[in-house]
Amino acid sequence: EENQPPHLTLKDALAPTAVNLARYAGPESRYCPAGVYEFVDERLVINAQNCLHCKTCQRKCPFDNIRWTAPEGGGGPRYKRM
Ligand code: SF4
Repeated sequence: EENQPPHLTLKDALAPTAVNLARYAGPESRYCPAGVYEFVDERLVINAQNCLHCKTCQRKCPFDNIRWTAPEGGGGPRYKRM
């Protein structure tokens, strides 16, 4: 699992700091229930290993900048009653 490609990617790596942090006080650090996104020295750090695979970040990013893809190895959400 450590060697699989990242399942959380940014379309524009500069947008979180240049736009989201500057204009909206970094919403990434608030809408993720697992605290995956944090700003350290005004730079976005993605702690993908903590991801719960809820896809909230892909829906809530003001500029549709975050892409979530299914992780390898059968991970991801399990909706048993749907
Ligand atoms: Fe956080 Fe959910 Fe996005 Fe994972 S999919 S980074 S838990 S908001």
